Amino acid sequence: MSGIAFAFEIGGKAVDPDKIENPDEAKIIKSIMESVSDRVEDLHCQEHDEGPRFVCTGDSYEDLTLEVMGCCEALVEQVTKRLSITE
Ligand SMILES: [Zn+2]
Repeated sequence: MSGIAFAFEIGGKAVDPDKIENPDEAKIIKSIMESVSDRVEDLHCQEHDEGPRFVCTGDSYEDLTLEVMGCCEALVEQVTKRLSITE
């Protein structure tokens, strides 16, 4: 996977995408990571030379909210725009 970082917190607990035992849950996380990476992998900040990071939180695997983090407002805005246009 490209240099895009993901963090998951589900039901108040940090989840490591590589250590999910339930295959259905692992599939949900993998598809989120893949679809987001596909859309934004070429985006990175010209000024700070950093890629976006994503934090995915929710009460359950079926109810996750994706939050974009970045080195600056400009990058976050670029990424958010890209994600919302292609949705
Ligand atoms: Zn920046």
